[in-house]
Amino acid sequence: MRLDVVSLTPEAFAPLQGLGVIGRAFAAGRAELHVHNPRDFATDRYRKVDDEPYGGGAGMVLKPEPVFAAFESIPVQPRRRTLLMSPQGQPLAQVDLRRWAADYDQLVFLCGHYEGFDERIRSLADEEVSIGDFVLTGGELPAMTIINGVVRLLPGTVGTQACLEEESHSALLLEHPHYTRPADFRGMGVPDVLRSGDHGAIARWRAEQQEERTRERRPDLYARWQEKQQN
Ligand code: SAM
Repeated sequence: MRLDVVSLTPEAFAPLQGLGVIGRAFAAGRAELHVHNPRDFATDRYRKVDDEPYGGGAGMVLKPEPVFAAFESIPVQPRRRTLLMSPQGQPLAQVDLRRWAADYDQLVFLCGHYEGFDERIRSLADEEVSIGDFVLTGGELPAMTIINGVVRLLPGTVGTQACLEEESHSALLLEHPHYTRPADFRGMGVPDVLRSGDHGAIARWRAEQQEERTRERRPDLYARWQEKQQN
């Protein structure tokens, strides 16, 4: 998958390439990352990328010309999706990561800065995405969050398909608890069933735990799961 990012701080993306399984996916060529700095496309002497808002008010606004020029310099692959990072976007969910990983071979990320984008930049995007109801200084961490989540879903990045299917949010329920050796750690034990060797009982215990955890921690997800069970 080809990943293109339009960002004023390209250096922010360097750590991604060395980040464990994600770094290895880049090294193996499963994903390639290209970062484009609008400042390189600014045409005035000062390479200006921001300006004061029309109508006045606090903060500076990202100018459309350098962002459009950076965007238009990116080679286009047939199945491409452009995502604009914005706290005003649709909240990010695992289903989105799955959709982008499965349906596209190029993702373009538009990262804002300052007070935000000139509104006309929004016309470049297929989707606006928020990583939560809070405001960060730029779109780089949101873009890296999505890149991490998408690249780990690409075939071959993580161990087995089963890991991806069983994890939290893949089917509304949160994942069951995990334990590993030792069986007793500082007086904290491991549920007997997990050491019983009875695979049927283990599967039932895990399913119960998933329901219980989701009901306790995320009643909103649990209600959606129950609704789905009834249909
Ligand atoms: N004034 C803008 C507003 O109220 O919508 C916020 C601008 S924010 C300081 C600068 C940039 O950071 C945004 O344009 C966006 O690209 C990015 N950003 C900040 N918080 C984000 C979030 N929760 N999700 C996605 N992107 C975010």
